Formats: sequence, C-alpha cells, structure tokens
Amino acid sequence: MYRYMKEIYRAYENGVPVVGPTYISKALGIKKSTAHHMLKNLAEKGYGKYIERKGFFVNSKGIEEGEKIIKKHRLIECFLAETFLLDKEEACIEAGKIDEYFGEELIKFIEKKFKYKNCPCGNRIPK
Ligand SMILES: [Zn+2]
Repeated sequence: MYRYMKEIYRAYENGVPVVGPTYISKALGIKKSTAHHMLKNLAEKGYGKYIERKGFFVNSKGIEEGEKIIKKHRLIECFLAETFLLDKEEACIEAGKIDEYFGEELIKFIEKKFKYKNCPCGNRIPK
C-alpha cells in the first residue's frame, strides 16, 4: 500500500491526478496485473475511485495519506543526504528502502530538529 500511495501522490503532485496499472507497474517495476489489483484495492479502502480502462482517481483521503508518506520519505532523504553526504539519487534510493518502517515519533524528532523545507531534489516537504 505504502509504495503505491507514494507513486500516486508523486503523480498527483506532478499534475497527473489519474494513474493506471501501466504507470504504476513501470514506476514500481511490478506486473501490470498486480498494479491493477492494488489500485482496485486502494479504491476499496477509500483512497480514490478506480474506473476500468481509465485508472485510479485519487480523492482527498488519498491525497492526505500520500502527503504523510511523501513527507516521511523526504525528511529521511534530507537526513541521509546531510548525515552521510549522499547525493540526491542515493538519498532517494536509500530512503525508499527504510521510510515505510520509520515510526511517527522518530519522524517528528527529525522534523523538529532539522526543520527541513525541501528534499534534496528541491521538492516541497508537506506540513
Ligand atoms: Zn525520493
């Protein structure tokens, strides 16, 4: 769920509010049938609407969830880039391996201590 919402939010942020199984399967390197199944699943969970042959339309609940996820990812990217002097690609890859497992408390500590505004790529970190 986590990785899917991250990609859906990234697309939304880039002005693409509707994503289909092809888009998600390419972004995550997974089978199209798996992506299709997951998008339908996210719609059932209330994060948007899935329309066959059109795609997944994210709603406000989905956007809110995506913001939480991307915020976590970007705060960790900043932290890794600064602490270990990683470049932005390395920071993104490494953050992507661990962000799902970071607890809310730890994220709050990072947020308060460092007050990062943008990720190493320059993208805004949601409030
Ligand atoms: Zn990243």
